[in-house]
Amino acid sequence: MIPYGKHQIDQSDIDAVAEVLENQFLTQGEQVPLFEAEIAARSGSRHGIAVNSATSALHVACLALGLGDGSRVWTSPITFVASANAALYCGAAIDFVDIDPATANIDPARLEQKLIEADKAGQLPDALIAVHMAGRSCAMDAIADLARHYGFKVIEDASHALGAQFDGTPVGDCRHADMAVFSFHPVKMITTAEGGMITTNDDALASRARLFRTHGIARPGHDDFVGTPDGPWHYQQLHLGYNYRLSDLHAALGRNQLNRLGEFIASREQVARRYEDHFAGEAGMATPGFCPRSVSSWHLYLLRATGITSLVEKKALFEAFHASGIGVALHYMPVYRHPYYQSFGFDPAAFPGAEQFYREAISLPIFHGLAEADQATVIDTVTRLLR
Ligand SMILES: *Cc1c(COP(=O)(O)O)cnc(C)c1O
Repeated sequence: MIPYGKHQIDQSDIDAVAEVLENQFLTQGEQVPLFEAEIAARSGSRHGIAVNSATSALHVACLALGLGDGSRVWTSPITFVASANAALYCGAAIDFVDIDPATANIDPARLEQKLIEADKAGQLPDALIAVHMAGRSCAMDAIADLARHYGFKVIEDASHALGAQFDGTPVGDCRHADMAVFSFHPVKMITTAEGGMITTNDDALASRARLFRTHGIARPGHDDFVGTPDGPWHYQQLHLGYNYRLSDLHAALGRNQLNRLGEFIASREQVARRYEDHFAGEAGMATPGFCPRSVSSWHLYLLRATGITSLVEKKALFEAFHASGIGVALHYMPVYRHPYYQSFGFDPAAFPGAEQFYREAISLPIFHGLAEADQATVIDTVTRLLR
C-alpha cells in the first residue's frame, strides 16, 4: 500500500540522537534551547518554546492567554481534534467557524458573519485557533483585522505548516497572531517522533508558556518569583502547570531534521506540481492549486472528487483506492461529528462548507521520497476511478 505520508530518517538523524545518549543530559540539557532558537529563527519569531507535542503546545498556548472557565474559543471544524480539545482542557467553551471548501481553511467572510451575530448576542469569542490546513496559510491579515475589531486573541495551529509562507514571510512569525504552534509528529513536516513548539513575539506570553510547560514552577531570578529565595534550592510553583517538556533526544532529532526541511518541502512541492499537471481542470476533480499569496508546505495534497454526492459513494471510492494499493486518507471528518462532540449539540447544517469538504476530500500520497513510479500509479488510479 502506498501510504499518504511517511517520515524520512537518515544516518545523520541516528547519529545526532546517539550522540545525546552519550552526553550528560538526556533532558533539560542544551539541545532543547538550541532547537527552540533554530525554530524561532526559521519562523522569524522572537521566542520558541518546545513541548512534547503540538497538542501540549495548543493547551499551553490557551493557558498562557489566560483562557479558562467562561472563555469562548472558536476553531475550524476541519482539523485534528486536538485544535478543539485544547480549549476544553482549560474549561473554555468551543465553537466552530465554517471553512471554504476550496482551501479547507476558515473562510474570513463566514468568520465575520458569525462575529456580527455573536456580537449582537453578547457572545464574542476570547480566542480563535486558526488552522493552516495541509500547509496553506489562512488569510491571516483578514483574520487579524477581525481580531482587532472584535477584540479576540489568535493562535495559529501551524501543525501542518512548518516552512510555509504567507505574503512572503514565514508562517510562525506571528505577524498576525499572538502565538503559533507546530507539530513534529512523524507525518508532519519534520519529526522528533513526538514533539511540538510554540512561537511568539510576546515576552510575557513566552514566559507564561514556559511556566505552564514545567509544572508552573519558577526558579530564583524569575520575574514572578515571590519574595526573596530562602536559598539556591528554592523553587516555587506559581500555577497549576504540567510536565510537557521535550527531551534532548527528541530535540537533537528535530534539529538535525530541520537541516533538511527545505529539501522535504521542495520534493513535496514537486509531487504537488505533478498532481496539478494531471488533475487541474479535469471534470469531477477540484485541485488545491498554487495560492499566489502563500507558499504551502504541502503537508497534504487534498484532491476533491466533486462528483461525490454521498458518504456511501465516498466509502466505495476509498475501498476501490485501497484495493488498488493506494493508501488514500481523509483529513478530516468535521470535529463536531465525533461522538464526544455530538453531545454538545452542533448542527452539521450550520457548516455547509465543512460538510461538502468531508464528502469530497481525498488525501493523496505526498511525502519526501515518494517514488515517481508510485506517483504514476496513484495518478493512473485517480484517473481511472474519478473520470
Ligand atoms: C497533528 C496535529 C495536531 C496535534 O499534533 P501532535 O504533535 O500529534 O499533538 C494538532 N493540530 C493539527 C491540525 C494537527 O494536524
